[in-house]
Amino acid sequence: MAIRRVQVLVLFAIAMIISGMTLVVPDGVGKLPTWAGEKSVNTAAAVLVVLGGVGGLLATRHLRTICGDLSRQVIARQRTGEMTPVRASDHALAPLAGSINNLLQSVQSQLADARRHNQELEIQLKVVQIEREHAQSIIHSISDAVLVTDPWDELVTANDAAARTLGFRMPEQGRRPVAELIKDARIIAMICEMRATRSANGRRTVEHPIGDRTFKVTLSCLPGSGEGGGGVVAVLRDMTREAEVAQMKNDFVSHVSHELRTPLASIKAYVEMLVDGEAQDEKQKSEFYEVIQNEANRLGRLIDNILDISRIESGLVKVNKQALSVTVVVKEALELITPQASGKNIRIVDQVAPAMYQAMADKDTFHRAVLNLLSNAVKYTPAGGTITAATSVDEAAKRITIRISDTGVGIPPKDLPFVFDKFYRVEANKGMAKGTGLGLSLVKHIVENVHHGRVFVESTVGVGSSFGIELD
Ligand code: ADP
Repeated sequence: MAIRRVQVLVLFAIAMIISGMTLVVPDGVGKLPTWAGEKSVNTAAAVLVVLGGVGGLLATRHLRTICGDLSRQVIARQRTGEMTPVRASDHALAPLAGSINNLLQSVQSQLADARRHNQELEIQLKVVQIEREHAQSIIHSISDAVLVTDPWDELVTANDAAARTLGFRMPEQGRRPVAELIKDARIIAMICEMRATRSANGRRTVEHPIGDRTFKVTLSCLPGSGEGGGGVVAVLRDMTREAEVAQMKNDFVSHVSHELRTPLASIKAYVEMLVDGEAQDEKQKSEFYEVIQNEANRLGRLIDNILDISRIESGLVKVNKQALSVTVVVKEALELITPQASGKNIRIVDQVAPAMYQAMADKDTFHRAVLNLLSNAVKYTPAGGTITAATSVDEAAKRITIRISDTGVGIPPKDLPFVFDKFYRVEANKGMAKGTGLGLSLVKHIVENVHHGRVFVESTVGVGSSFGIELD
């Protein structure tokens, strides 16, 4: 506005000067003719118009130049992102430049806020990504099968154990409905049912067989917003071994109580007969006493064997392993069993090698194992039979073998795989001798658990049996 005002004034002055000059021109008599005044005014007006036009053009060009400069400064800042203040090349544009600078300042502060916010979001995203990776590795390190589904029953994640147990492949990308991936209809039904209950943090445990294995399936609802709630986590734990152990414990307890009750019942019965004076004479009395003694001994053996087995199984037995001459141990056991064998007219053949084979062994338990095999050989060999004890060594394999063979009743092939099991007694041989079915189980525990060796048996019904121990 200031420029325009100045320009107008300048133009007016120029026009007046030009017109004034015309006015002072004399007409010869010293008086100005009237037409001369009119002419000069017209001229002045014409000059004013021309000058006004020229001035306008100049002003417009100037305005374009200074505006163009301002606009270039703004574009340059836009391109580089640099927010330094713009400068008006003309005083007239100073207010506009001021407004632009205010705007730039506000944009600059908004930009800084946005950058800060963006940085915070990036950090949060990284934290979420790290937490997600952690959760994934935790799920994959769990040995139980783990499945996680979303509110639409699509598989979000699953570990290798789940893929193996339920026989599916984790999709490489995206989520797929569990019903498409898993064939086990009951598991799918359990997941859908659990999700439908929408009980936040609810839990349910179900026993479920898959193939020949038993699983404990624990289902939990994930908390989630929205109508559908969250998804479901299913954890499948293989309980087969636990179920077997529980069954074995039950069997063991019922076997033990049965085995303990039998000799106890007979002791009670004979004691009662003696108390009631039912023994007719001294001979019968001593027969009763003998039965009571035998049954009491049997009870004692049974209790000893049970305690020994459970001590070895739980690792509570005191073991003192040292370099031991196997020859000496077997010979000592032979000496102990000879009276019993002689009583049954059974011949003992000693083929124990004279060489002092040495093994790292616990003398007490090892001696017990050999004596048990010899005692069985005597028990299950009819009078007149033979028992052979032999030792040998395989130098290359550094293995010592002790073999106790007999010419006894033998063991039917169907029973052979079970003779080392707890309480297992061969039905066909029960009449030969009384027993607990724990002797061979104890031998196996001593050899395998305490000495890390092996036991074996070969037998032919009516020909005889051969039990052996191998020590490395
Ligand atoms: P038991 O107290 O019944 O002898 P064991 O555990 O020592 O218990 O033996 C298990 C079963 O194996 C015995 O009941 C018996 O039928 C069979 N057995 C063990 N040793 C012999 C053997 N030398 N000859 C034939 N049968 C044997």
